[in-house]
Amino acid sequence: MTETSETVGVAMPREVETIQGKPCRSCGTLLPLDARACSCGALTDNATFRERAEFEVKQWRAYKERATAESA
Ligand SMILES: [Zn+2]
Repeated sequence: MTETSETVGVAMPREVETIQGKPCRSCGTLLPLDARACSCGALTDNATFRERAEFEVKQWRAYKERATAESA
C-alpha cells in the first residue's frame, strides 16, 4: 500500500517556482532577480555600494536644486 506517498508528491507549492523576481521596495513592480534598479529609480539589493552612493548624490542634488529654485 503506497497510496500516501503518491499524494504527498502532488502537493507541491507552485508559487515558489512561478515567482522569478522580487518586488521593488518603492513601487512594488516585480523585477528580475539580477536587476540593479527599477524603472522608478529605486535601487535593489543587487546595486553596489558605489551605485547606492551615486543614487544618494543624485537625490541630494535634486533636492538642492528644488530648494534653490524655491528660495530664488
Ligand atoms: Zn520601482
